[in-house]
Amino acid sequence: MRLDKYLANMGLGTRSEVRKIIKDGRVTVNSHNVLNGKKQIKEQTDKVQLDNKILDYQKFFYYMLNKPQGVISATSDMNQKTVLDLLDKNDQQQGLFPVGRLDKNTTGLLLITNDGKLAHQLLSPVRHVNKVYEVKVAGIVDENAIAKLTSGILLKDGTQTKEAKVRILKSKDGYSWIRITISEGKYHQIKRMFGALSMRVVALERVEMGPLRLDTTLTVGKYRELTNSEVLKLR
Ligand code: URA
Repeated sequence: MRLDKYLANMGLGTRSEVRKIIKDGRVTVNSHNVLNGKKQIKEQTDKVQLDNKILDYQKFFYYMLNKPQGVISATSDMNQKTVLDLLDKNDQQQGLFPVGRLDKNTTGLLLITNDGKLAHQLLSPVRHVNKVYEVKVAGIVDENAIAKLTSGILLKDGTQTKEAKVRILKSKDGYSWIRITISEGKYHQIKRMFGALSMRVVALERVEMGPLRLDTTLTVGKYRELTNSEVLKLR
């Protein structure tokens, strides 16, 4: 891999920023000064140092974000803030992307990584990875509605959803709070499932995805790296 790519992948700056760092003589490879970003290095075995500090090459990065409302699940956008904009500059390694999408006004668990293989496994429709949502719905969701959601529901466009696990958490002041587990990821699925019952979702939060559970100490808009054991569970 080229040295400039290696340093950019590590989140040390854009390609042009890291080329400047290299030109300034701050980087050594196996204790030799290197001034050209094009130098090829072996990322697993070469000893790369920046300002005399050894860099540990990490190929994949995994972040758990508690997504706030008002940002989109995309990698870049001309007009709108994306989930990647919420990461500190040092954490903005190249190739990061959100695993799946949450709507702009949905909050909660979003995995951000550069591990394409893992993302593919989590999103593959054949794997049926469970996603758990807590939903605030306008109106009272009764047992009849729960039965329909549980057994799978016919959406307005004729799509049939698979079985779901559904539980009423509480009902108060004309609203219902529901916990629902689905194994699919159709466009606007939860909103459309309630829409098929003529009910409006007023707040939607994802709390689990496969074995990953939203860290309740992460306030909305905050993120952290996954622990090793969380990454292992995902594989
Ligand atoms: N279902 C929705 O309707 N929206 C989301 O963001 C996720 C699931």
